[in-house]
Amino acid sequence: MNDFTYVRASDVEAAVSLLAEQPAAAARFLAGGTNLVDLMREGVERPEVLVDITRAPMAEVQELPDGGLRIGAMVRNSHLAGHPLVRQRYPLLSQAILHGASAQLRNMATTGGNIMQRTRCCYFYDISSQCNKRTHGSGCDAMNGYNRMHAVLGTSAHCIAAHPSDMCVAMAALDAKVNVRGRAGERTIAFGEFHLLPSDTPQVETSLAAGELITSIDLPAPTAGLRSIYRKVRDRASYAFALVAVAAAIRMENGVMSEVRLALGGLATKPWRATIAEQLLWGAAPSPGLFAKAAEAELAPAVVRSGNAFKPELAKRTIEAVLAEITATEGDLQ
Ligand code: SF4
Repeated sequence: MNDFTYVRASDVEAAVSLLAEQPAAAARFLAGGTNLVDLMREGVERPEVLVDITRAPMAEVQELPDGGLRIGAMVRNSHLAGHPLVRQRYPLLSQAILHGASAQLRNMATTGGNIMQRTRCCYFYDISSQCNKRTHGSGCDAMNGYNRMHAVLGTSAHCIAAHPSDMCVAMAALDAKVNVRGRAGERTIAFGEFHLLPSDTPQVETSLAAGELITSIDLPAPTAGLRSIYRKVRDRASYAFALVAVAAAIRMENGVMSEVRLALGGLATKPWRATIAEQLLWGAAPSPGLFAKAAEAELAPAVVRSGNAFKPELAKRTIEAVLAEITATEGDLQ
């Protein structure tokens, strides 16, 4: 780990100002540290300055006037998953968080940090490997190497790293919004536009401008009667990243799916809103044939490598099973 200077910010304005005083590449915000500190230990991240934001007042979960929820960036993952309003109104989010990491990590990890976490591609963490995300233009050892955990959707010729978060998959399905603050003021970014596809610049992962800080996440008011499931398929029952994850929320009305929200994890380079499948399902009567058609269409653009060729079929079966369960069961699924 390189030597660095540690400074503590007492509020959001101070945090933004402290970071702005540094060259963009030299400073990082430090929240729970569950990913950043690992990256520093491995030499992947080598900040010269860490701006500790854990004392900045961003740890509240507040109801919004329109019935939505504002989640402070410093709200810990365990607190968020167990919050009564989240469990009651957004059980999909609570479930997704509890499927991620371990209890100890969730106690430390923050909402903002979860959104900003980096891929767990093993070559990204190994500084002796070729990795376009770590060193732009150096190559990608995952293409013809160990790629069992890697993405099949949203990939490019430069990077196939899967986005690791469970929480973000639920937030994508729920149409969350990310509130950020920078030297130029505040702005809000739609969740689907926050994470970027790797394209030919895999080192640029988000639409955050230099020096901007995530301050909170807004969830829109939930629709009455929306029923949801978060299903994660992984190599072991806990503390493992997803091979496939499906976040689904559906409202049934008069025998048809009057609202459909579907997002995928473990499969793509960013939290993946399954818009192709949603369009086929929205307003239709549920049936196994339709579920298969929707899953097939969503996975049709998948590009596989030698180690992850099983993922499209696994994803299709998981999507079909989740949709069947949601639409077949009466009453509350949670
Ligand atoms: Fe790096 Fe992406 Fe290739 Fe992994 S998949 S080695 S993160 S460029």
